[in-house]
Parts: sequence; structure tokens; C-alpha cells
Amino acid sequence: MTDVTQYAGSATDGSASLGPSVIPAGDPRYASLLRGQNHRFVPKPDYVHIVTNTAQVIDAVNQAVSAAKRVVVRSGGHCFEDFAASPDIEVLIDLSEMNSVFYDAERRAFAIEPGSTLGHVYTVLFKRWGVTIPAGECTEVGAGGHLAGGGYGPLSRRYGSVVDYLYAVEVVVVDESGTARAVVATSEADDPHRDLWWAHTGGGGGSFGVVTRYWVRSPGATSDDPTELLPKAPSRWRTEYMMWPWDSLDEETFTKIMHNYAGWFEANSDPDSPYANLSGFFHGPGRTGAVLVGASVDDDLPDARELMAAYFEAMQKDVGVEPQTMAGPVQPWLYTVSFPGFGDLGDHMTRRFKMKAAYLRKGYTDAQISTIHKYLTSQDADPSLILIGYGGNVNKVEPAATATVQRDSIFKVMVISVWADEAEDEERLARNREFYRDIYAETGGVPVPGEVSDGAYINYPDADLADPEWNTSGVPWHTLYWKDNYPRLQEVKKRYDPRDVFRHRMSIRLPE
Ligand SMILES: Cc1cc2nc3c(=O)[nH]c(=O)nc-3n(C[C@H](O)[C@H](O)[C@H](O)COP(=O)(O)OP(=O)(O)OC[C@H]3O[C@@H](n4cnc5c(N)ncnc54)[C@H](O)[C@@H]3O)c2cc1C
Repeated sequence: MTDVTQYAGSATDGSASLGPSVIPAGDPRYASLLRGQNHRFVPKPDYVHIVTNTAQVIDAVNQAVSAAKRVVVRSGGHCFEDFAASPDIEVLIDLSEMNSVFYDAERRAFAIEPGSTLGHVYTVLFKRWGVTIPAGECTEVGAGGHLAGGGYGPLSRRYGSVVDYLYAVEVVVVDESGTARAVVATSEADDPHRDLWWAHTGGGGGSFGVVTRYWVRSPGATSDDPTELLPKAPSRWRTEYMMWPWDSLDEETFTKIMHNYAGWFEANSDPDSPYANLSGFFHGPGRTGAVLVGASVDDDLPDARELMAAYFEAMQKDVGVEPQTMAGPVQPWLYTVSFPGFGDLGDHMTRRFKMKAAYLRKGYTDAQISTIHKYLTSQDADPSLILIGYGGNVNKVEPAATATVQRDSIFKVMVISVWADEAEDEERLARNREFYRDIYAETGGVPVPGEVSDGAYINYPDADLADPEWNTSGVPWHTLYWKDNYPRLQEVKKRYDPRDVFRHRMSIRLPE
């Protein structure tokens, strides 16, 4: 493929017609446009540049670069760290109004603009074509950062990571002379820009340029009928839970539940397993909550109920403490993936987060479970430990085939703290950090790739991995995220962003 000359975003392909809008500090609109989801970070750019098509992005980047201003881009604003909200940012390019989703017959693929929320993507794909992508559960996340970072969700065990469906990407990059241009990079073997496509299959946002469009379709799909170019969306979605209040558990019974949970995923995470159709999670909150195991499944599958029943039977085996069970509603699919309660909540809600993450190839060791038990039972609420079932069809893909290198894990782990009041920052952060460090005490406080762990997930970024106080493993943060794929990502960086225009605290570094 060649560089594009006809940029995306004309009125005919559905892009918003709102023109570019430059909103400087002092403008009455300015304060409303600074923050993303995590209110711990508030940037103070000279101006916010709202853009709605590729030509406007090129102009916005050229203006910033020629004025030697530090520029970053934000799409859905759901970054857990300050990548799009650090204090040194001078220009914030806001892509949230660039949010069309449509079928591109020429490329035989669905085009997704970066400002589209996942809920909007699911809604359009479903209403028009009855198809979907295996992306995130949280419907207000933006496609811009999510796809580039290797997003996953409740359909990933069944269908793979969302990046396994990425066919092409349009990126505004800046050359050595400081001039911006748009490049379309595809997965085609003979595409001279194929490496740029590859870098967007898990290399993370904010490192190479501004993504102005993604195109998705099922790998190997040959049809030109759009209804056959992505997985069929479920019609109804079944969710069930099993719960043990903390006061009914001791360390032994808690350990048993964790072993049951991990053992089930160790045994049932092959791509061919019928249980790859099932998504599951474990939620361990502090002592005011309850230990929760859940699962959900496409209710149209003929064996949906049997799969669920077998899963929950395995979860309670030999625990010896009767759980409470709850069947969630069997919901129409679109209720699940575009539930209105997931929208922008405004400032009155809890919006301060600290996330730490890891991959697990198998269940935690008894020593780790003992640490987890100690922390969770000695605190009221935060942080929680969440283990989301992964693997299945994600693990069909070779580690080097995409930038998403972890391809034999069975869990994504989150250690997450959520609070409302800035005054609690220090205490909440300390607890979160100490908990995680102690889980990984044997490997320098971080999930060093090995028999049990396999590094961390860039879409749940954690700046502490680059801090020698919290990472004493000697393994650099970029190895935890990308392992052997990192040098290739650095080569792509050198070729497409030689001036390191697009950078943040965990962006891909230029090779030395
Ligand atoms: C409440 C919540 C729920 C989540 N749920 C899930 C989930 O279910 N599954 C999952 O996999 N992840 C999930 N995530 C993580 C999410 O995938 C990442 O935070 C993702 O990077 C967010 O993308 P964004 O566009 O919303 O964020 P932004 O903050 O806008 O961007 C994140 C990063 O990508 C860069 N970026 C954004 N847009 C572009 C672009 N167009 N071109 C180049 N770089 C860009 C930014 O500069 C920044 O570095 C969740 C996050 C939150 C806060």
C-alpha cells in the first residue's frame, strides 16, 4: 500500500462535519476538555485541538511540530497513567469527535475511527451487520488507544484478541524534516508499511504517530459480504456469579477457591476447548466485600447452560463452604455492550485510579495466595485483585506475529484501586504498590516472565514498572510489556517517528 493522498474523513464516508476547533487556555470551554477518565492527571496544554478528519490531524501535528511544542493525542481518554495528561504537554489533540464506524467496500473491512467508544463500535456493527469484535468489556473506552494496545474482552477466549482482527491502520507520522503525512499500513505480506501495521497490534498508543483510522476484519476472510467479515454477535448474553462473604472463609478455603479457579482455566483454555466459549473472572476485594467468581457466555450456544453449570461446579469443589449463587439477567447482547450506565459519569463519581497488571500462565503459587489472603483480609476495600480468564483463541497466534507477545497466558491480572478524594492519593497508592510488590516478592516486585508469570499489559500501564524503587528485578519495563518483540518495535519507531515526536513515559524508545 502507498501513502494516501485522499485523506479519510470526507462527509461522504460518514465522518463528523464539525471543523477543527482550537481551544486555548482561558477559553470558557478549556477546563471541560482537559481530563480523561483518571482524574489523578490533569494536563495544562497551551490549547486543545479538536479534529475530525485526517487532513485536520496533519495540520494540527504540523502546527505543533513547527512551533516545537510537545504534542500528545487523546481518543477515549481511558489511559490509567498520564500518557495523554502529563504536565509538560503543550498541545493536546482531541480525537473524540472523530468517531465514525462504517464498511469500506474497497478494503473489504470495517473502518473504525479512533474517537469511537467501544460501545459505539459494538452498536453500529450489531445494528447494521449483526457482527462484532472481541474487544473490551468497558464500553466507554476509546478505540484509539485500545486497539493499538492489544485490547481484549469477554469474547476473546472464543475469538482472540482484537488485534487479531486488525487488517489496516492509517497513521499520521512525522518524518526527519518535521513534516506530517498520513500512511496506510496493512497486514498484506507485500505492503512496504507492514511493520507499521504490526506495531499497532499491541505496541501501545502514543509511540509512532496519530492513528486516524483502523480497519478490521476476520483473519483469512475471503467474502465480500460484510456480514461474513467479522464474528457474528451473540443475540443474548448469560452471566452468573458465585459468592463467598469473607467472614465465611479462612485462608485454607480461600486458597481452595483460588486453586479451583486457576485449575479450571489451566485445564480449559485450549483454543479448541468448548470452554473457550466461556469468559470468567475472579474478584477478590477487601474484607467489606465478598469473594466473587463469575462467568458469562453466549446464550445461543446449545450447551450454554451445561458449560456454565460445569464451571460453577468446579469452582466450589471441596471448598466446604456453601456459596451464594446469583444468576444475572440473560440480556439481549446490545444491552450488555452498550449499557447506558457505562457512559461518562461526570466529576461527581469516583474517578481516581491506580492499576497494576500482569499475565499469568498458570495459577498463583501457595506463597503468593497466602500474601493475597493476608492483604485482602487486612483492608476494608482497596486494592482489589481481579483475574480475568484469557487464553483460548488468543493463544492460537504466534508471539511474534503481532506485537502482543503474550500468547500462552490464561489470565490477565489487575490489582486495582479506585477512590474519589484526592486527599487519599498517598495512602491508596502506597497500599496498591505494596500489595503488588509482595505478590511478586520472589521476582523483584514485578511479574518477570517465567513459569507462572509472563510480564504485563500495556493497556493497563503502570509507571512503577520503570521505577527502580518498585521494580528491583533488573528486568526492564519494556521487556515486561513486549519481551522479544521490543527491538522490532524500536526499529519501527526509528523509521516512522525518528524525532520522537510521539512520546510518553512508557512509549517505545528510539534504538541507541
Ligand atoms: C474503566 C476502564 C475500563 C477498561 N476496560 C478494558 C477492557 O475491558 N479491556 C481492555 O483490553 N482494556 C480495558 N481498559 C484499558 C484500555 O484499553 C486502555 O486504557 C486504552 O489504551 C484506552 O484507550 P483510549 O483511547 O480510551 O485512551 P487515551 O487515554 O485516549 O489513550 C491511551 C494512550 O493511547 C494513545 N492514543 C490514543 N489515541 C490514539 C491515536 N488515535 N493514535 C495514537 N495514539 C493514541 C494516547 O496518547 C495514550 O498514550 C480499560 C480502561 C479503563 C479506564
